[in-house]
Amino acid sequence: MYLTLVFIVMIISGTFIVLRIQASETKKSEEQLKKYAEYIYEQIVLTYDNPDDFQGGFSDLNISGMSLRAMQGNIIDTKGQTIASTMTTDKQSFPSYYNSVVSTALSGTENFNATVKNADKNGSVKTWMSYGYPADIGGKLTYAIYVQMDKEELLANLMQTKQTLMLAVLLSLLLTCVLGLLFSNTITEPISILTRKSNMLAKGNLEQQIPVKSNDEIGQLTKSFNYMARELRKTLSNMENEKNKLEILVHNMTDGVLAFDESGFLIHANSVCNDMLEIEDHYFSLVDFLTMANLTRDDLKPNQINEVTLIRGEKYIGVSFIPYKSGATATAPEIGADGYNDIDGVVVVMHDITKLKLLDNMRKDFVANVSHEIRTPLTTIKSYAETLLDGALDDREIAIDFLNTINSEADRMALLAKDLLELSRLDNKQLTFHFETVNLIQLIEDAIRQNSILLNQKKQKIIFKEPLHPQMPVFVDPGRINQVLNNIITNAIKYSMDNARIIIEAEEDEYKYYVSIEDMGMGISKEDLGRIFERFYRVDKARSRAMGGTGLGLSIAKDIMEGHNGSIVAKSELGRGTTMILVFPKGSHPAL
Ligand code: ADP
Repeated sequence: MYLTLVFIVMIISGTFIVLRIQASETKKSEEQLKKYAEYIYEQIVLTYDNPDDFQGGFSDLNISGMSLRAMQGNIIDTKGQTIASTMTTDKQSFPSYYNSVVSTALSGTENFNATVKNADKNGSVKTWMSYGYPADIGGKLTYAIYVQMDKEELLANLMQTKQTLMLAVLLSLLLTCVLGLLFSNTITEPISILTRKSNMLAKGNLEQQIPVKSNDEIGQLTKSFNYMARELRKTLSNMENEKNKLEILVHNMTDGVLAFDESGFLIHANSVCNDMLEIEDHYFSLVDFLTMANLTRDDLKPNQINEVTLIRGEKYIGVSFIPYKSGATATAPEIGADGYNDIDGVVVVMHDITKLKLLDNMRKDFVANVSHEIRTPLTTIKSYAETLLDGALDDREIAIDFLNTINSEADRMALLAKDLLELSRLDNKQLTFHFETVNLIQLIEDAIRQNSILLNQKKQKIIFKEPLHPQMPVFVDPGRINQVLNNIITNAIKYSMDNARIIIEAEEDEYKYYVSIEDMGMGISKEDLGRIFERFYRVDKARSRAMGGTGLGLSIAKDIMEGHNGSIVAKSELGRGTTMILVFPKGSHPAL
């Protein structure tokens, strides 16, 4: 650009200078020619009367202040004949100049022609500037004075000027080139730094700062760039923080959270989802999920949450499908081009409700069990009472028998009520244990003694293998532990044949005491073994009931043992017998 500019300026000014020089030189030459013609007119034509003397007049011609070099003069008569000339003294070889300049002068008008081609003394054709002057004598036009000046010199001067100008143009261009290069470097270098740093910024390298070296537009731009990079860093770090917070929140939630985009592709899932759904990878789509939940995409509508319960293995999972619209307010549902409702995606929240579900089932079972347990003795009491009212009362023997049955059924109900109350207190942690340090051996012996009647009835025998050191101090509520031991021993007696043997053993290790009660009775199958500590669970309902059991004994025993920071374990083999092991922590203050 600079080069072109300089070139144009130089060419225009150069041309202008050349033209001006040419014009002024021509003008100067014209004036000289005119003066020369006037001198010839005054000093020759007007001075000499005889035209033959004109030729000699040229040699006396006083042309002060003028150089005759390259100028020549001629006097031409009205016929166009040269009668005197500075070209030659030989009249015979006077050149003939009857051209337009001469003819115009002969017609009475002086005139100038800047380019006339004529031969010189030596006969070579040159370019001349010619001037024709009408010379009148006494008011009568007699001669034309024709003067001419060699233009070659002027042309050579002009050519030299042109060459000088061309040289100046070339030098200027060269200088412009060098200076332009220097200037463009100082201008473009900061811009190219800016461009480079901008590219690096765009590629994610945000640590870009450029030193500000000037206060001009580039400096301002650099300052703006630095400010932009700083703000970008700040904004991005804010966004990153927010994202991290959100990620931590979602990642550490106990609920499973999944997000699907408009086309149903999974875009986010926290780690809980894997465990809940027991799916290894996350490459499943919304459609898979909906199929699992027996729903279709048409069921998903803006502002409407679909809640379903999924059963995965043994788990119950509450799933909420929450369609979202990223454009904030969801207006009336539109049907999109794909035929689906106009939603931008779906967030799915999953909650493990297995415990709730099991608790709910247990509650339902419990209510059914309680009502069943109450109804059975009540039905017996009612039917016996009705029979008595219908006349059996008259037969004293039958009546006594019936009243005994009614009495024992009422006892059963009372026992049930007592057990239920106890359980509820244990559940609500209302039952307070009265801890004291007692000898566990003593407690076992008491329980064996309390069961002696039952033992005698079934002709059974308990063998208590006492430990070497008959002192096993435990910090317990003796009444409650007696209740547990009684329950276990009674069960061992109840579920064993007559004449059977029951072996009780007390052992210890560094931290615990172990009391095992082993019978050789009917035993419990593997499937039932895991459930005997459940409330109302009985392997053989009829037999248990006949033996006066409520099915609550073991669950109460388990709760009491856990309340003492101990435990109860059952081992059994069907038809072979059962071993119940009570575990007590050592030390006077179990962590309760
Ligand atoms: P129950 O009042 O019916 O005895 P428990 O809670 O004490 O209730 O016992 C639950 C069930 O466990 C019993 O109904 C019985 O089927 C089984 N059971 C408990 N102890 C024994 C044992 N020693 N041998 C065989 N089965 C037993």
